[in-house]
Amino acid sequence: MAGGNAIRGTRVGAGPIGEVERGESAPRRRIPFWCANGHETRVVLASEAEVPEFWDCPRCGLPAGQDEAAPPPAPRIEPYKTHLAYVRERRTDADGDALLQEALDRLRVRRGG
Ligand SMILES: [Zn+2]
Repeated sequence: MAGGNAIRGTRVGAGPIGEVERGESAPRRRIPFWCANGHETRVVLASEAEVPEFWDCPRCGLPAGQDEAAPPPAPRIEPYKTHLAYVRERRTDADGDALLQEALDRLRVRRGG
């Protein structure tokens, strides 16, 4: 449910624009998790919340852990992924590009274009 917002936060908030993050005063931590497929998931937790040992990767459903070099193993044997399947998965990045474009449009309007 909150996946889109997570993408927005990492994509746009990381840049110089930063207005998406404004007004967020509650103390939070962004904890990165990595799954066996190399997907990075950043989970935003309240600072007092307990950090879970594992997090289900929202892209492929594998368990993800906090050690990038040693992600938790897949619970069952999966067929080796082809390059095409990998590329197809990465196309979800287009959502982030659309959000970036939106932010750039807003910036242009503000400059009086
Ligand atoms: Zn994954």
